[in-house]
Amino acid sequence: MIHTIEKGRFHMKTALVCGAGGFIGHHLVRRLKKDGYWVRGVDIKRPEFSKTAADDFRLLDLREPRNCTKAVTLANGQVVDEVYQLAADMGGMGFIHSAECEIMHNSVLINVHMTHAAATLGVKRYFFSSSVCVYRDMAPGEPPLDEAGAYPAQPDNEYGWEKLYSERVAMAYGRRYGMAVRIARFENCYGPEGTWRGGREKAPAAICRKVACAPDGGEIEIWGDGTAVRSYTYIDDMIEGIVMLMHSDLEGPVNIGSSQYVTVRELVETVASVAGKRISIRSTPGPVGVRSRNFSHARIESLGWRAEYDLRRGIEQTYPWVLEQCRKAGLIP
Ligand code: NAD
Repeated sequence: MIHTIEKGRFHMKTALVCGAGGFIGHHLVRRLKKDGYWVRGVDIKRPEFSKTAADDFRLLDLREPRNCTKAVTLANGQVVDEVYQLAADMGGMGFIHSAECEIMHNSVLINVHMTHAAATLGVKRYFFSSSVCVYRDMAPGEPPLDEAGAYPAQPDNEYGWEKLYSERVAMAYGRRYGMAVRIARFENCYGPEGTWRGGREKAPAAICRKVACAPDGGEIEIWGDGTAVRSYTYIDDMIEGIVMLMHSDLEGPVNIGSSQYVTVRELVETVASVAGKRISIRSTPGPVGVRSRNFSHARIESLGWRAEYDLRRGIEQTYPWVLEQCRKAGLIP
């Protein structure tokens, strides 16, 4: 395939996925391949759990400007048609609160250099993965916040501030260079092949692991009292949203997430029920994050997008995968 590009006989659409060694990027590469793209994946690591579907996978540190140029440039000297920027130094709440400097330093460098390279070299469409961490904390029961509700800005953590700044970088470059910029603000995303241990895992994977390792009738520890409200979006729904948004005319940030808001306690109950175990909860102090979430999905739904997976169905796909990882790692017999 690369040979075909060198000969200049390349007719497929080309895409670069930054962060293709990570959870969402790895799944996105698979989807773009199914959709008939030629795909280059870039990351500082390879996907951990299965082989990449990318035609070309490169280990490049995107904090370096010259690596961003290499990433977008094809062997025939042209640039990729579309860039999907999902590379970030990120993790769950534990990581976000302990690695503030790394997030502010590394993710800003990735975004500033990648946006600059893509826009100045002539990429036509650019996707940026932002987060609902750009929004302020909310009180339980508050009506939904729409995308404009991110201002006046009061994110709860530095990760959110970095995302808000990088959204603005992407939009400024889009305006000056005529690059179509699409920005998704993701809510929590989960599914098979997501980080499930090591400190960067998010709540659904962490709870699946804890429940998998607990005996029937056992107890698991959670940060806070379990009343914090979130929504959790299954990976296939998120990928569908990314693809729909990228090819739409929707300018400005767009929330993507399930409208099923649940407490952390309800998340534990769902996992326990899927696992077929009776599990009780022990609260412990920890970085809980915001108290509540409730976002408008009117913009993404205007494209016909709907979350197909409710929490139970998503956990039914995810729990067995985490259970298998726990077995392989020798955490359970
Ligand atoms: P992930 O950590 O699995 O993937 C991010 C990837 O970026 C990793 O593979 C990492 O190695 C790579 N990366 C880090 N530094 C890099 C560098 N210097 N050069 C090249 N690659 C580098 O995270 P994910 O869950 O797949 O998230 C993808 C994107 O979506 C991120 O931007 C994240 O902030 C955003 N997001 C995710 C969620 C979620 O729930 N997963 C929610 C909101 C926003």
